[in-house]
Amino acid sequence: MRPEILYPFFADTVSLPGVGGRIAALLEKILGRKLLDIFWHLPVDIIDRRACPPLSEIKYDQVVTVKVTIDKHDAPPRGSRRPYRVWCHDDSGRLQLIFFHAKGDYILRQLPVGEVRLISGKVEVFNEQLQMSHPDYMVSPDKQDDIPDVEPIYPLTAGISSKVMTKIARGALGKLVPLPEWQDASLRSREAWPPWMEAVKAAHMPQSHGDLPMNSPARARLAYDEFLANQLALEIMRRQNQKKKGRSLRAGGTLRARLLENLPYQLTNAQNRCIGEIEKDLAQPYAMMRLLQGDVGSGKTVVALMAMLIAVENNAQAAMIAPTEILARQHYVSLLDMTAGMDINIAVLTGRDKGRARQKTLDDLMSGEIDILVGTHALFQKDVIYHDLAFAVVDEQHRFGVEQRMALSAKGAAQGYGAMDMLAMTATPIPRTLTLTAYGDMDSSRLDEKPPGRKPVDTRIIPLGRLDEVVQGIKRALVGGNRAFWICPLVEESEVLDLAAAEERYRHLEQVFGTRVGLVHGKMKSKEKDDVMTRFVSGDIDILVATTVVEVGVNVPEATIMIIEHAERFGLSQLHQLRGRVGRGLEKSTCLLLYGNLSGTAAKARLEIMRETEDGFRIAEEDLRLRGAGELLGTRQSGMPDFKVASLEENGQLIAIARDDARLIMEKDPELKSERGQALRILLYLFERDEGVKYLTSG
Ligand code: ADP
Ligand code: MG
Repeated sequence: MRPEILYPFFADTVSLPGVGGRIAALLEKILGRKLLDIFWHLPVDIIDRRACPPLSEIKYDQVVTVKVTIDKHDAPPRGSRRPYRVWCHDDSGRLQLIFFHAKGDYILRQLPVGEVRLISGKVEVFNEQLQMSHPDYMVSPDKQDDIPDVEPIYPLTAGISSKVMTKIARGALGKLVPLPEWQDASLRSREAWPPWMEAVKAAHMPQSHGDLPMNSPARARLAYDEFLANQLALEIMRRQNQKKKGRSLRAGGTLRARLLENLPYQLTNAQNRCIGEIEKDLAQPYAMMRLLQGDVGSGKTVVALMAMLIAVENNAQAAMIAPTEILARQHYVSLLDMTAGMDINIAVLTGRDKGRARQKTLDDLMSGEIDILVGTHALFQKDVIYHDLAFAVVDEQHRFGVEQRMALSAKGAAQGYGAMDMLAMTATPIPRTLTLTAYGDMDSSRLDEKPPGRKPVDTRIIPLGRLDEVVQGIKRALVGGNRAFWICPLVEESEVLDLAAAEERYRHLEQVFGTRVGLVHGKMKSKEKDDVMTRFVSGDIDILVATTVVEVGVNVPEATIMIIEHAERFGLSQLHQLRGRVGRGLEKSTCLLLYGNLSGTAAKARLEIMRETEDGFRIAEEDLRLRGAGELLGTRQSGMPDFKVASLEENGQLIAIARDDARLIMEKDPELKSERGQALRILLYLFERDEGVKYLTSG
């Protein structure tokens, strides 16, 4: 249960002064519905009003606060477009205040002739006159405190100005109460971190530009708080998993030995290492939760098969789930291929299987006739009952939700075990630090070596202006029997009009290549998408024009050309994923990165790295380094964790510290009972990472 001390932070934002239903709805869209959500929404800049120079010494375009005497009002005649002007002076010079569409009587009341006023705003020069349009503050000298020394600037967000946001934030900060300290005292003093409440206040009220970066003490503390909550939550789940009684799969080896004889190649060292890690886990009496990371083409399928055979050697069943029909069928075919001639029964089940055929599969599954079942979401369905499911592989695991993983795990728990062994796979290598934050509850294996004999993909960077040449080149290549992917950037809600719309490109290429061109995009139904993909796989079409929706992992060995239009707008990891779809066959492959505008240095750097390397792990590290440096399409990388306040780019080095911290905490105080443990529970609730608290027995 949520600690009482946090109740006020979870109040609805409408409880704040100045927040009505409309503003609350806008806030909800960008932040959330709770006061707490506002705490994490930090200013990105400041306006410093502390400069109070005499008028004669003002630098143009400077924000100042000046003390002046009002001389004269000049109201425009009714209906005139002229602005309303007010003249004023100090000992050193004169200043004109300008108001457009002004209410004259209001200004007269605010600035009575002969009175002294404090005026704050930005000064400009027009016709050699100092001017200030629409001052931010106009107060009498006794109200000096109404003008803030330094004003925070909040990021502009749908319909909420920075001024309004400042008011809202002030209201929320007013509800702050000190919380017991959960951070280690020595770490805090080493890093000069303030206590939590002070840190939140300081983060919202930066006093200088030095307070703005995420590595300034107050903000770094909040970031570390969040990382610690994240790591602690993962550590609790990891320990919980290990406590669940699992099945020890350790018998045999005969099927695996047969498979190795069957394969036309030797496993790589990386494959052997990963298989070894999995074997060791499966032999343990608790449930395995392991992530297998490996680039497209690194050979994950055979690793998964070796693992599934362990289950089968133990007279149990294994399942393999893929996110799409087409991927499931490809897995099925390659598993059949690898196990040809072996005494093992592999079946496939997807949404496409209906009626009698489906019923037969279900019957064979229940009787134990089927050893390995490959499929899509269909494998989670209620009427899919396994004889004895002991192990599951989840391919492209980020495409599945936690509930789906749970539903699957429940199928395996039928045998009286607390949890089932699982291997999650992903073709999106992510940097080491991020593996900790995204998958810290899993152990991780990395396939960081490609099978031998892969020809490198010839990657070229070409201006879009040479499109015609590119088209002619493809024409020649297709005659030789090649196939090509043509990727167009996603069109963002009409925002980016100059983006080459996939449809337009499709029509253009159709004029050159006729019916040999197909199109897939995100607005199509998945059945339609699958149909076009299938035609490309079978060779009915030679060019597939696609938005980035093309499934990662789809295997088309004949595809040797990858064209990416406006490559400068894609993130590195995305480019890498796209390029990974070629270079899978015997023929040499080419990747053409077509760019429109390379003015950003980050964009240039990204394309250069693509030319330099095909190592997905290195690209992932570079991606993290370059991210935030440029505005990219779809920067949100699949499988990346989302943080409320911490910045992966600026605070990333704190993650490993938080991980060690979390492990140590749980070793010393596994139930979070100590004084610090109690405070850490509050931290978990504060960041809404409390899903594991129920597993801690006391408290
Ligand atoms: P991934 O699923 O990681 O993208 P796959 O498992 O589909 O990769 O493997 C890609 C290709 O590499 C397949 O054609 C597979 O037969 C082949 N392959 C896998 N391991 C090896 C190896 N050790 N040596 C040679 N070829 C391999
Ligand atoms: Mg694969």
